[in-house]
Amino acid sequence: MLVLHYTGMVDGPAALARLTDPQAKVSAHYMVEEDGRVFALVPEERRAWHAGKSFWRGRTDINAASVGVEIVNPGHEFGYRPFPDVQIATVIELLTDIRSRWTIPDDRVLGHSDVAPHRKTDPGELFPWRRLAEAGHGFWVEPAPAPGAPLAEGDEGLGVLTLRSGLARLGYECPRSGRYDADLAVVVRAFQRHWRPERVDGIADGETRARLMALLRMVTT
Ligand SMILES: [Zn+2]
Repeated sequence: MLVLHYTGMVDGPAALARLTDPQAKVSAHYMVEEDGRVFALVPEERRAWHAGKSFWRGRTDINAASVGVEIVNPGHEFGYRPFPDVQIATVIELLTDIRSRWTIPDDRVLGHSDVAPHRKTDPGELFPWRRLAEAGHGFWVEPAPAPGAPLAEGDEGLGVLTLRSGLARLGYECPRSGRYDADLAVVVRAFQRHWRPERVDGIADGETRARLMALLRMVTT
């Protein structure tokens, strides 16, 4: 798997200091600065400590099965801002390079918030997943208006059950149930951050559900 992060610290040097501090107990295979410089920090075949408690497609030890890339951005806490073009161009090159060495399907090119939706929001809704997909990394679904009444917290029934099983099939940790509870709203928000970034509200409207279904048609395994 590939797990993308933002550093979520005031600047690149602060993030680099933390990622190379043994006491901090966090690490990643690569860090990409805003100006496009790449820092190789951990060999790809070694485990890095970037994902924490996480889940995707039934797998929980994500650190043992992923390459982690930290992308410098202050994040939601310190002034979230768009990722510069040169930085994203470098990320794309880096992913091409990594994927030439490992078999990583497109449905396993993910954000930290996908594998840990209850704890993490990175790399966030400003991350250009669409541009990555156009460059051959990950899946993207073009926006298209879709009918259907929105499902939201408090709702119950078959629609909620279908939504949950779709999110679980894609990979999210999402137990079977017909109830739209606060936990489901968090997972929907994570889905939107990645695949419907213009609307991150935890409400599964018709378009959010349509994009999920379209993605499931792309996933082969
Ligand atoms: Zn992260």
